[in-house]
Amino acid sequence: MSTPSILILPGDGIGPEVMTEVRKVIDWFGRNGLPFEVSEDLVGGAAYDAHGTPLTDATMARAQAADAVLLGAVGGPAYDDLDFGVKPERGLLRLRKEMDLFANLRPAQCFDALADFSSLKREVVAGLDIVIVRELTSGIYFGEPRGIVVEGNERVGINTQRYTESEIARVARAAFELARKRSNKVCSMEKANVMESGILWREVVTRVHAEEYPDVELSHMYADAGAMQLCRWPKQFDVIVTDNLFGDLLSDAAAMLTGSLGMLPSASLGAPMANGRPKALYEPVHGSAPDIAGQGKANPIACILSFAMALRYSFDQGAQADRLEAAVERVLADGLRTADLLGPEGGSHVSTAAMGDAIVAALDATA
Ligand code: NAD
Repeated sequence: MSTPSILILPGDGIGPEVMTEVRKVIDWFGRNGLPFEVSEDLVGGAAYDAHGTPLTDATMARAQAADAVLLGAVGGPAYDDLDFGVKPERGLLRLRKEMDLFANLRPAQCFDALADFSSLKREVVAGLDIVIVRELTSGIYFGEPRGIVVEGNERVGINTQRYTESEIARVARAAFELARKRSNKVCSMEKANVMESGILWREVVTRVHAEEYPDVELSHMYADAGAMQLCRWPKQFDVIVTDNLFGDLLSDAAAMLTGSLGMLPSASLGAPMANGRPKALYEPVHGSAPDIAGQGKANPIACILSFAMALRYSFDQGAQADRLEAAVERVLADGLRTADLLGPEGGSHVSTAAMGDAIVAALDATA
């Protein structure tokens, strides 16, 4: 098989800083028997500065052709007054839309060394490792009719929750496939008690499970009960699959179970390509953090863990992903902290580059 390709789009603000550290990690794997063909291009404000658009057609074509895309972050105050059509975020939205990335994976993983960062008790979150799969391209954020209309003497705001069977089936398959690479358990969340789209969701997920994934354990939960269970005992879950709106809320809540924004990776997956790999975009959850950009303060771990997700979900290298996550765990257990990982009592912290170097050194220790 040919060398897998990764397109890196560092973007704006702290994007290039954290991506420099990811490059060190990718290079480490290259030196240790897992080479990647890496290329780099512009997105967001950086692309606007160079080309007058946040994503050129040429970059879009390179993203479509790559085995995986790794993105830093886009946006910043310099671009706030641009027309909506050329704002940095439009570059990211175009990537998601044209690559048809319908499954958004947001892990909530709690490293033991950071368990006290959570607003929940240590025993509730320590060792937590779950993934929320959110449907990303349909549902109430896209359904028609929508708008604000006048009825009688007042205005009415309208949005429509709408799902086709095939949209539900494909995100369900993404969740079942993911579960097979993890603890083989899926919980599907909707509101089948009060929404027809929820009734269809439950029916289709149940059918896809019975016909294609009977080996995976499936349960169903109403999304409001799911929110309560996430706060009460999140370790009962492995993979949660849910729609766009509920996923938006549940994934933010779940992510915060584990603490800092600088630690949260994500993946957005689409349909399989000819080589069997899904279309895939990996990115940290955080933005371009203009308040700390250029100061060596950014935590590169969210972006490094996004690459770990690429190893696991695009390149079938689960053992190497485990190894990278263990290296991160080790560095944190040794007490290394970027500024965002200090508690209110403060303490000493290291730079973005020092954190990246320490993770590479921890990888060396496992080689
Ligand atoms: P942000 O995530 O950039 O920052 C929020 C806070 O978290 C800031 O105080 C920041 O310093 C801190 N922070 C974020 N990432 C960090 C890291 N890796 N290490 C240490 N601290 C970190 O969100 P914001 O301030 O609301 O938005 C800033 C810009 O980023 C805006 O232009 C926004 O549109 C854009 N944005 C982009 C994305 C994306 O590219 N996917 C996501 C969210 C926001």
